[in-house]
Amino acid sequence: MDLYNNIFHATCICHICGKERLDKDILIRLKDISKRYCMPPQTVWMHVRYCSDNPECIEKSKTFESAGKVHANSIERKKT
Ligand SMILES: [Zn+2]
Repeated sequence: MDLYNNIFHATCICHICGKERLDKDILIRLKDISKRYCMPPQTVWMHVRYCSDNPECIEKSKTFESAGKVHANSIERKKT
C-alpha cells in the first residue's frame, strides 16, 4: 500500500535544473557569502540544492549564484 509513501514523500526542487526530486536525491551545498554583505565570515550562507545523481547539476552547483537563496535570518540576527 502506498499510504506510507504518500505521507513521507518529501520532495525538493533542484536549484540548477528546476526539477522536483525526492529528498534523498537532492544534496545541499553551503556557500559562505558573508563577504558580500560585509558580514563576518560564516554568518550568511547560501543554500544550493542540486541533484546528487546529475553530473551537470553537481558541476553547476559549484558556481551557482543567486541572491534569492540567502539565509535572511542570519542577517536579521546580526543587525539586532
Ligand atoms: Zn538538478
